Parts: sequence; structure tokens; C-alpha cells
Amino acid sequence: MNSSENIKITFPDGSIKKYPKGTSSLDIAASISKGLAEDILVADVNGKLVDLTAPVENDAKLKFYKFNDEEGRKVYWHTTSHIMAQAIEELYPGAKFGVGPPIENGFYYDVDSEHKFLEEDLKKIEDKMLEIAKRGLETKREEIKRTDAIEYFKTKRVDPYKVEILEDIAKNEDVVSLYHQGGFTDLCRGPHMPTTAKLKNVKLLSVSGSYWRGDSDRQQLQRIYGISFPKKKDLDEHLHLLEEAKRRDHRKLGKELELFMFHEYSPGAPFWLPNGMVIFKELEKYWRDIHDNNGYDEINTPILVKDKLFEQSGHLDHYKEHMFRVDDGDEVYYLKPMNCPEATLVYSSKMRSYKDLPVRLSEIGRLHRNELRGALGGLFRVRQITMDDAHIFCTPEQILQEITGVMGLIKRFYALFELEPRYYLSTMPDDAMGTKETWDDAERSLAAALKANDLPYEVKEKDGAFYGPKIDIHIKDALNRDWQIATIQLDYNLPERFDLTYEGSDGAKHRPVMVHRAIFGSFERFFGMLIEHFAGNFPLWLAPVQVAVVSITDNQNDYAKTIYEKLKLSKMRAELDQRSEKVGYKIRDWETKKVPYMIVVGDKEKQNNNITVRAHKKGDLGVFELDKFISSLVEERDSKKINQNI
Ligand SMILES: [Zn+2]
Ligand SMILES: [Zn+2]
Repeated sequence: MNSSENIKITFPDGSIKKYPKGTSSLDIAASISKGLAEDILVADVNGKLVDLTAPVENDAKLKFYKFNDEEGRKVYWHTTSHIMAQAIEELYPGAKFGVGPPIENGFYYDVDSEHKFLEEDLKKIEDKMLEIAKRGLETKREEIKRTDAIEYFKTKRVDPYKVEILEDIAKNEDVVSLYHQGGFTDLCRGPHMPTTAKLKNVKLLSVSGSYWRGDSDRQQLQRIYGISFPKKKDLDEHLHLLEEAKRRDHRKLGKELELFMFHEYSPGAPFWLPNGMVIFKELEKYWRDIHDNNGYDEINTPILVKDKLFEQSGHLDHYKEHMFRVDDGDEVYYLKPMNCPEATLVYSSKMRSYKDLPVRLSEIGRLHRNELRGALGGLFRVRQITMDDAHIFCTPEQILQEITGVMGLIKRFYALFELEPRYYLSTMPDDAMGTKETWDDAERSLAAALKANDLPYEVKEKDGAFYGPKIDIHIKDALNRDWQIATIQLDYNLPERFDLTYEGSDGAKHRPVMVHRAIFGSFERFFGMLIEHFAGNFPLWLAPVQVAVVSITDNQNDYAKTIYEKLKLSKMRAELDQRSEKVGYKIRDWETKKVPYMIVVGDKEKQNNNITVRAHKKGDLGVFELDKFISSLVEERDSKKINQNI
């Protein structure tokens, strides 16, 4: 082939165009429109992400990614981290660099420098980064022999971390790539955006310590986090959300609203305080209602179990490092890290016939998992987990119907909180138990159930549990943060290990399929998420105190008491505030406690036999007739509405 030959480029819409061999994807984009060439950050050529400036040498399927695409964003943030490294090198010569990847929101770079970075240095580095951006430096990829790269980082830009990466991590590669931007060179696989000029807005967020390669015996580096955006508006919006997240932090609100506490004597296990327990119980009650009404039978199994069970289930082979071991002086026990093995014991406690199936056993189980102490954080990373579990034992023919039923529950449940679920199918991981065939069958069944429900989903390769594939359900909260909450897992392995059977219509023994599923996932995590999602302003049905009755002076104390008692008769969680404080003070106090409604009564209300109502954050709603108000309260509570305000 000579260079005057053409190559065929196929675009995502299926259209095909011819270009001279060696045309860069940036030039191809420019031939379509100038705007497109401006916006794109990276190209996908035959399934591989490459620099926009790289020549396309063969017929190819070509896709472009912009900042709105995850691929584009990652490249944008990744390149920004290199620009940060260059800025640091210019400001603090001699700095050495560990790794600098993009992360879910932004990027970081680990820096080894004699200079100890403080908050005020970050602004200085940001300014330098924007200056480098303005220089409009082209990012140039150079492929060189690994041995030459080692030489380069030993002699030219001395950096022992890059040498270690090249000697150790990249030891099976003959050729590696360097990226040059102006006078700055870094080791990187790429791809990068074509010029530093694409960086428009950047904010460096924090600096913290991190050990080289996560090893606490190695050098401590300074990790600088940041984020960048092409548009100023998007950076401002992101910074606003970060502020909002701080304000809504469940650890802070949990303390202020007296929902839960932690104590050093039990790391990673919350103490639920009375207010938190009210919410916990409401969630549990709702969970029980929907399960009792949908053909589940609730069980409760022991927390402390002999090692034999977990040998048989395979947990000791696959999960031992997460399990707490207890020795009674005679035998070894473990605190259960999952409910599943014991659910199989309940299943096999009696003969099952095909007519009994599906058997749906629900359990609110208390689990213990040995999370590293350093990884514990509020309700999001705990060692004691209350899991809203259920195990369904069914015939292979019932899988579709059962998974469909579970999805119906999940949809209903999340609609209640106005959370929109998204679905992911996770496939066979490398450390999987069982054969490829059974995994393929299981993955097909889950995909079929998703399709039957018309639910769009994405595939997460190799992200399944070790015993079966799963559907993970994610939601986005009020701050647009992504949470993995519910999960549905199909399992062919445990029924095998515990020799579970049912008698089929043919009179022979058959193996049931086991479905593991949770809707909250963990109560703790879900609770923490809810606190932040609602910023502590819980809907009426969850609010620890639903309505406060406030008298203006002692004159109305009996009237206030009658109102309070009527509320109690309707099972409202009401408080009677007869403190001899100024009414303004009392109102502010209930306002900080985020109580949804306040009934305020003075002489006028007492005379007219009515009430004045205030709603949290909205203020005065006007005068109401008591009975009417109570019946709308009851309606709002029982229908579990979100912030109706009568
Ligand atoms: Zn890079
Ligand atoms: Zn399970």
C-alpha cells in the first residue's frame, strides 16, 4: 500500500467515508465540522482509545468522545493531571511524581517534593496550570524502548518512581510511551488531549498524604486532588455541589439531629439513637409490608455460626479475610458475613416439592464484616451491616418470573423516594466458583429478565460475585451522586454445595436455583444516603418528630395540650412545647430540628378554636381547622408522600 491510497472510515451512524491513509482523526473530524473538531478530546479507533493526532493507517470504525462522554472526561482530567505535574515542576523544581490518574470526579497526582504543599500553594499551582494551558502546548506522544525510558528517568529527568514503574509494572512491555508538552516529559500510556489549550477551568481541591503504591512501609507522597472543566459554569456547579455535600454530610447531620453515634469501643458499628431508630423502624416496617404482601416468608438466623458452615459454603476459601473469628475454647465460630448459607439450612430443613416452589425467605440479618479500620467512614463503610436480604429458591423455569417480581418491588421502592434506578449486569469474575456453562446460563437469564421488563442496562464485565452473576441497581441522589444500592444475584453454586433438592413432577430429585437479593442493600448505607439525599429534611412518614405544638404563652397551655392529645390519637409523632420561652425562640428551635410541621396557638386561635400552621423551611401556612389539618397530615403520612406541605 502506498501513502496515496485511501482508507475507509466507518462512523457510528454506519456512514462510510474515504480519507487518505495516515489522516489523523482530528483532521477527519475537521472535515465534518469545525465545531466537532473543537469539542472532541479523544478518538476510538477500532475499539481502542487513541490520541486525536495519531494517524489512522487502516480501514477503521471511528468514534469521537467529548467532555460529556465518560471516555472524553477521563482524558480531559488525565491530561489536566499532567499539566498539574508540569506546573509543580516549574514552581518547585526537582519534584518527583508517582501516579496521576483520572478518578470518578477529577484527578490526582502523587508528588514527592521537599516542599510541603499547603492550601495556599494550590491557588499558585492552579494559576501556573492556566498559564501552561494558555501556552497552547501540543502534547506529543513518543514511543521508545522500555530500557531507553528507564535510562531517561535515571539520567535526564531523574524520577525513581517512574523507574520503578518501568522496571516493575511495565516489565512485560518492550515499548512504552512518553508524552512531551513543551519542555515537560512524563511517562504515560495515554491518550491525552491534543493541546494544553483545552484546559479552561481548574480547581485544586485538597492535598493529603498517600503511600507510594499504597504500602505504608514505603515513601509517603503528597496527593493533590483537583478537577477541571471546559466550561466555567460546570466548574461552578460542581463546586456548589461539593459545598452542598459538606453541608449535607450524614455524619454532621446525624450528630445534629441525634440520629446515631459512634464510639471507639465499637469501631464501624453505629449506635442508633432514639431519633434514628424511629426512621430505622419505619423503613423496616415498610420493607416488611411489601415483602409480606408479595409472597415472602420472613426468617431470622443465628449470627454466631460454626466454621463448618462456611467451609461448606466456600466463604472460608473466598471471604475469610473479611470474617470475624470467635473461639469458644473448644470450637471455632465466625460471625456471619452473609445470610445465604443459613438460608439454605432453612430450605433443606424439610422436603420440598415442585409445588412448594418458589420458596422466598426474607431476612433482616445482622452481618459483620471485617473492613479495615482505616477504611471505616460514617454509615457508608461499617463493620456491622443490617442487610435486608431475601433468598428465593425456584426452578430454572421460574427464574424469569422471580427476577421480574423482584424488579417490580425495587421499582416501587425507589419511586417512593423519587429515586430513579439504573441497572447493571455484572458478569463472571476471574475468581469465580463453578463452570463457564452455568455462568453463561445465569447471565442469559438475568439479561432476559431485564429485557422482559424493558429495562435498559449496561454490562459490567467480570464484576459478578464469586458465586454467580448479578444485577446491580444504582441510583442518583439529589446531589447527582451515584450509589450502588440494590442487587439481585443468581446462584447455582450454593444449591450444589448444600445439596439442595426438590421433588419434581416426575418424582425425581432436582436442583433448585437460588436468587440472592437486597433492596436497601445495607440499612446503614441506605440510611446515610437518605440523610444526605434529603439533607435531613425527611418526608413526614420518616420524620422522628412529625409535628410540634407550640403555645405562645402559658394562657394557651390547655388548648395546646388538647391539640397534642388529638394528634397522639391519630398516632402522629407529636411534641408539646410549653417551655416558657419566647415563641420566636421555640419556632427557631423546632426549625433547626427540621420538624416538618409546627402548630402555633395563641389567644386568637384558642378563641376561634382553630390553629396556625407552619411548615419547615416554608414558614406560615395560615389558619386551619384542627380536624381537617390532622386528616391531611394522616393522608400525607400514610401515602408516604415527599414534602407535600398540606
Ligand atoms: Zn497521561
Ligand atoms: Zn445471599
